[in-house]
Amino acid sequence: MTLEPADRVDAVPPSGIRRFFELAEEMDDIISLGVGEPDFSAPWAAREAAITSLERGQTSYTANKGKRELRERIARYEQLQHDLAYDPDEEMVVTAGASEGLDLAFRALLNPGDTLAVAQPCYVSYVPGATFAGVDVVDVPTRAADEFKLTREVLEAAGAAEADALVYCYPNNPTGATMTGDELADVAAFCREHDLAVFADEIYADLTYEHDHTSIATLPGMRERTVVFNGFSKAFAMTGFRLGYAMGPEPAITAMNRVHQYTMLSAPTTAQHAAIEALDSCLDEVTEMTAQYDRRRNYVLSRFEDMGLDCFPAAGAFYAFPECPWEDASEFAEALLQEERVAVVPGTAFGAGGEGHLRISYATGLDELKTAMNRIESFVS
Ligand code: PMP
Repeated sequence: MTLEPADRVDAVPPSGIRRFFELAEEMDDIISLGVGEPDFSAPWAAREAAITSLERGQTSYTANKGKRELRERIARYEQLQHDLAYDPDEEMVVTAGASEGLDLAFRALLNPGDTLAVAQPCYVSYVPGATFAGVDVVDVPTRAADEFKLTREVLEAAGAAEADALVYCYPNNPTGATMTGDELADVAAFCREHDLAVFADEIYADLTYEHDHTSIATLPGMRERTVVFNGFSKAFAMTGFRLGYAMGPEPAITAMNRVHQYTMLSAPTTAQHAAIEALDSCLDEVTEMTAQYDRRRNYVLSRFEDMGLDCFPAAGAFYAFPECPWEDASEFAEALLQEERVAVVPGTAFGAGGEGHLRISYATGLDELKTAMNRIESFVS
């Protein structure tokens, strides 16, 4: 026995984003529009609650599913915010980020050899997560012409009707696309007709700028076939706390919790204390951060328009996804980094459908964003 990677690990290439970060790390004076996390620190009250819990010596494991006070607050928040009604005892598990929740779902609810339709371009973890679970992937590329929304047509064209489950994320990383309830109704009908389970990654649900978020689980006949993933990383700017949650029908959550209780025991205790406080007293900060993202979004979109670069009006998360002026977006991103010291990510790093586009994260202060956009403009012209 040697310590060689297992085949299913070997099958997964290193992240396409990593190369740019490695290059960028070696250079000075870089402005990074490449990272997918808030530039804000977590709200002070949440940080203070974490500190206080440590001072009180609250350093043990919690219940596997997470502290009850937290699950109750999440249930209340999701009801108020997104019209989702989940029982905090039976239908919810607190996880180490939405990432852990997704991994649990792939492993606990799919069998090796099952197929997962993955709406793309998408967050870089879905396909590797499926591969680690021994699950086959069906690529479902969305189209620039549809503003990267998921439609019945793209699902049909990709052969998703044969899949066992669908995973998608709206508001979307990397495109910033959102979907209205009416638009989701078509996707829901497709999933019902072809009996697909749905893994709905709603981590950016509170970062919407043009219409409120609708969860597919609120549509008729969908609650029983959907697991919803959310967390504190994005809206609450708490990425480093590593805290998320999954909500779904009791049998699904029970199965996910069975994997969770053996592999994680419980999500980080300090982070759970911070999250309780975040839900109790930090919603104004979320509103303020969202308003700032919206200002930056408008700024970035207007700059791309001035440059004559096609960029659809991304209405959620903190990403814009402009068309790349060069045919090869990787070459463009590398040259932009070398010549203008601005890091962006080529759309191809996020899977099928991202070709010819760049992901720009506007989770960056407005002053830096202005300098970065000036540099991009000078490079493009
Ligand atoms: N889903 C999406 C779409 C994301 O963009 C990210 C973070 N970049 C995650 C999940 C991971 O979130 P967490 O920090 O809660 O694991």
